Amino acid sequence: RFEDLGLCNEILSSINELGYTKPTEIQKKSIPDILVGRDILGCAQTGTGKTGSFIIPLIEILNSGKSKSRMPRSLIIAPTRELAMQVSEEFIKINKYLKLKMALLIGGISFGEQDFKLSKGVDVLVATPGRLLDHIERGTVLIKDVKLLVIDEADRMLDMGFIPDVIKINKLLPKIRQTLFFSATLSNEIRNIGKDLLINPKEISIN
Ligand code: AMP
Repeated sequence: RFEDLGLCNEILSSINELGYTKPTEIQKKSIPDILVGRDILGCAQTGTGKTGSFIIPLIEILNSGKSKSRMPRSLIIAPTRELAMQVSEEFIKINKYLKLKMALLIGGISFGEQDFKLSKGVDVLVATPGRLLDHIERGTVLIKDVKLLVIDEADRMLDMGFIPDVIKINKLLPKIRQTLFFSATLSNEIRNIGKDLLINPKEISIN
């Protein structure tokens, strides 16, 4: 049950309203480990509830803390605009009774609007790699304060040629942080990319 996972009442209320009666397999296996600070190497496809498996504990972890201007406390990287939007929608639903702030950095939305949100301070940044690097180069966001990094759909990131961008982003992140790395498939190449980002991860595979 979600009630047994150590989540605050606000999160339990929003989950309840969404009609999530019990955690999916990936949620059951990942949420307790994420809450105690462990890195995750997760192999799960879309449709398994994988977005909730990182959004729910991320919100629980960030709930005790405060955002600073231009220095997000967490970063979720997704390969496409559509995926980043889906992640942000899940965040908004679970965050319904809490006050965490989020910015979505994707193409097709004006820099000005994104810049305004960043200047006011966000707890969660959801971004595609290219748009995030654009903001970093413009100096509108600093990622050296990120305590929690999520890489979503790493295999698609690889197929789309975004791994060099992810490596560039990783160099600007603090070494001491928690990292959650998800992919629909776990090839040797994906594992090697994961090795550079994760420290002693718990591996979770869902069929
Ligand atoms: P995802 O695998 O993250 O793309 O999620 C697939 C769908 O499952 C989404 O529509 C979610 O809203 C839904 N979902 C996520 N977690 C649960 C849950 N515990 N119970 C029922 N539906 C869920």
